[in-house]
Amino acid sequence: MAATGQARIDPLSRVVDADGLDEMIASLRSHGRTVIGPVVRDEVITHDQVESAEDLPLGWTEDQDGGRYRLEPTGTDERFAFSSPSTSWKRFLFPERTLLIRARRSNGEVSVVEPEPEAPPVAFFGIRSCDLAALGILDRVFLDPGAVDPTYAARRPDVFIVAVGCNRPGNTCFCASMDTGPSPTAGYDIAMSELHGEGDTEYIVDIGSERGADLVASIGSRPATEGDLNRADRAHETAVAAMGRELRQEHVPLAALDPDHPRWADVAERCLACGNCTMVCPTCFCSTTEESTDLSGTETERWRVWDSCFSLDFTHLHGGSVRTSTRSRYRQWLLHKLVTWQDQFDTSGCVGCGRCVTWCPVGIDLTAEIAALAAPAAATGEECEA
Ligand code: SF4
Ligand code: SF4
Repeated sequence: MAATGQARIDPLSRVVDADGLDEMIASLRSHGRTVIGPVVRDEVITHDQVESAEDLPLGWTEDQDGGRYRLEPTGTDERFAFSSPSTSWKRFLFPERTLLIRARRSNGEVSVVEPEPEAPPVAFFGIRSCDLAALGILDRVFLDPGAVDPTYAARRPDVFIVAVGCNRPGNTCFCASMDTGPSPTAGYDIAMSELHGEGDTEYIVDIGSERGADLVASIGSRPATEGDLNRADRAHETAVAAMGRELRQEHVPLAALDPDHPRWADVAERCLACGNCTMVCPTCFCSTTEESTDLSGTETERWRVWDSCFSLDFTHLHGGSVRTSTRSRYRQWLLHKLVTWQDQFDTSGCVGCGRCVTWCPVGIDLTAEIAALAAPAAATGEECEA
């Protein structure tokens, strides 16, 4: 889907119905791919294996706000009427736990095995534009020629990407202001826009690669009409207008760099340092290593596991932690995400998905924190901490 203001009409655009989605999923599966898509589980929309269009969140949307998430029925036959699922896609490329080495002692000899990374063929079916942008950021981190991550590098290149434009952004979304959505513009094999409102819901399908073209050619579809394309454009414009929040890089104030700005103390009063924001964030990539030894002492394993800069141990060196206060840890997270990420990776570390706002148990909203940091310090009513 092309964003407003870009060349829009692709003569190769096709339209499929729900049966077409089924055919797509069946075709991907018949080529040996595990298809991962949005599903309803445990009263949230998350990602899991899908075997047919029946598994998609038919008739569900969510009510999201700071510290709040509720599933709600739409009463329609839309399958993509939600915004950011509760989990991001990073766990399929950068798993929560990865075995690095296993060592065994036998007859006085120690053998060390470094497992080959597992790279099962997968398709991401229904990835949002913001999450696609997040994959682009993770690519810079994990595929940097100076520090290639073996697991990510083994999995990422072959992933078949079926992106879907977001028609119903949540209250916590701000991808439009971050230029990462709501409609995918690159990085996909196939991009779809859900056309709802006139008869049965259909899907405009745009092709982004040869293998995407092959897949679309193998399923039933019809050419997109000017009316279909206009409907997709209107859906895009409506979604842009419905964004619940806004954050632009130029909003990030120099005052935020001041460690004594009183807003840091204010947010530290509210922040629980739980790390939820980093777990749900599609671009946070910090990890640590854990060693575990069996009770007989003959076998030991080293695992890489997700970690969070909100953890006290995260900066533990000899003599203790570098960032002992919640204030310093929140500041590290926010400024790394929005400022120093620019220096390291030439991009913001935020794609505006809003998950950190929704899943923060106390509803801390980074867009509000930035707005407060940009305001004159006296207006916050806080005392500066020395
Ligand atoms: S910082 Fe928050 S809004 Fe930005 S990408 Fe991460 S979870 Fe999404
Ligand atoms: S900002 Fe919210 S989610 Fe993040 S560590 Fe603090 S309390 Fe937890």
